[in-house]
Amino acid sequence: MADTVLSGISVATGIAIGKAFFVNRNHIAHLPRYTVAAKRVESEVSLLHDAFAMVEEELAATREHVPVELKDYGLLIDTHILMLKDPKLSGVAEGYIRSLGLNAAWALEKAVSDQEAAFGAIDDEYIRERMQDVRVVADKVQAKLTGEEIDLEAMSGRAIIMAHDLTPADTVELQVDKIMGFVTVCGGKTSHTGIMARSLAIPALVGVDKLEDHVHDGDLLVVDGLAGKIVVNPTEAELEDYSERAVYFEEYTRKIKRRCQLPAETFDGSRVQVLANIELVEEVAAVLDNGGEGVGLYRTEYAYLNRTELPDEEELAEKYIDLAAIMSPRKVVFRTLDLGADKFISAYGELSETNPAMGLRAIRFCLKHPQLFKTQLRAILRASAYGNVSLMVPMISGVKEIRQAKSWLAQAKAELRREGVAYDPKMPIGIMIELPAAVMIAEYLANEVDFFSIGTNDLIQYSIGVDRTNHHVSYLYQPLHPATLRMIKLVVDAAHQAGIEVSLCGEVASDPCCVPILLGMGIDSLSLTAQAIPGIKRIIRQVNMHDCRMLLKDVLECRTVGRINTLVMDNIFTHFPDEVSFFTSLLENDEAGS
Ligand code: PEP
Ligand code: MG
Repeated sequence: MADTVLSGISVATGIAIGKAFFVNRNHIAHLPRYTVAAKRVESEVSLLHDAFAMVEEELAATREHVPVELKDYGLLIDTHILMLKDPKLSGVAEGYIRSLGLNAAWALEKAVSDQEAAFGAIDDEYIRERMQDVRVVADKVQAKLTGEEIDLEAMSGRAIIMAHDLTPADTVELQVDKIMGFVTVCGGKTSHTGIMARSLAIPALVGVDKLEDHVHDGDLLVVDGLAGKIVVNPTEAELEDYSERAVYFEEYTRKIKRRCQLPAETFDGSRVQVLANIELVEEVAAVLDNGGEGVGLYRTEYAYLNRTELPDEEELAEKYIDLAAIMSPRKVVFRTLDLGADKFISAYGELSETNPAMGLRAIRFCLKHPQLFKTQLRAILRASAYGNVSLMVPMISGVKEIRQAKSWLAQAKAELRREGVAYDPKMPIGIMIELPAAVMIAEYLANEVDFFSIGTNDLIQYSIGVDRTNHHVSYLYQPLHPATLRMIKLVVDAAHQAGIEVSLCGEVASDPCCVPILLGMGIDSLSLTAQAIPGIKRIIRQVNMHDCRMLLKDVLECRTVGRINTLVMDNIFTHFPDEVSFFTSLLENDEAGS
């Protein structure tokens, strides 16, 4: 038997086998604390500044090698470099060396504690994140001062990165090409680790409690991103099972990818569009490679994060035009900024909200900052002249809100017209349906726009009342809840009655169990992470609409998630024999292995 089996939330699927490698094990356990003699004060101050300079130099070198797909994380390194240059931290630490005679590492610790005391009481996600960044930067400098740096050379060719809360910049420094998997204590499906792991297709688990009690550096680990567990020090037999399973999974992935360019057409000839969700423009290669027929959700706010200055219209337009032109004639749906909740920008960061997910988020934030909104609208309009561009507004709660957004769009169009700048006057405008209020008035909203896209990630959060990033309540996060399914159906029906198209762009779109139900409802398109497209297209090509409608009818009569799950599993067993044999063999291995 293995030493331990831990469970967590799988944020990227697959199986990884490797050696545990702890990074950022919070900070140095035994920080040396002593005072220095008056004659040594100057040299201690120099040691402090030299350590800051060394870390800055190293980060600058790392920054140059950040792969394009991790561009946002490069921007985070920029933030850390700016923090090192900012005399606030080093200046206060220097003050403690001079006034109290503390050794450099201790003085820096006191400077960080001062900042934590000043900002720690502020309940604001942005401030908390920046404090984490200060901690990360200070850890690096202290590691230089004490010689307790992470020995990168010690990382084996098959490292499983273990961390309390992994920052993307840490990961970049740890040579992504050697990393087989990620495991963290903190985070939910939408944490940075999850997003990065998914875009790099690396198996990852978050929300693993007591990780540091059960796993030690160098332990042999299996990260099972399919079952959501970690096997610590597996036996020979278990290891053999998992190795076979990993090979099997890779073969299966390769096999389904071979047919990913075929159209998403059901067995009886109904056509559905399968589009991709992207956070970065650089992901377009993965979209096309995996058979994406366009971009159904471009989360534009990612390009605003981790930077101290806002992008201007020129920078945005250049990026948006590139995307529209590369994808043309395929569609690209630009979602306007969804800032707030867990995504903040420094220029507007000093917002203290008790409940940010229900606060000044998304369109609310944009309407409060119309200049920021209009800059983006102008850039999207400019891109519309170069391809098949649509605009989509998140978190709409009522008719007035979408009318206000449209009025800013009309102003942006009028300005561009006056300036003689080209744009598509017929650019479709849609909204995300992710609030129960929007579901209930979908028929009114449908008269205001050209399309709907259902954002189930938030719709589930707001309707079941379960924080989507909180692993303590993740068991309640249920796409197959009867309430969720009824709401989706209401929206699809309202859209079709008004003669507009409806898409679904939440994670539900990449869940093979849910897709037949969505097809039964008559959803027009699905938008999902690029890596999941081949599998979902394969499901669509195997089903026929009659069966999907029958399944939907049965499912809508169920009162519990449990009953719906049973029906959905029965459906999978009946209609997807290949998938069943694939998953059953994994299950059999699992039973043998544990
Ligand atoms: C959603 O809420 O379902 C969605 C797709 O948007 P995001 O995950 O960016 O909030
Ligand atoms: Mg959302």
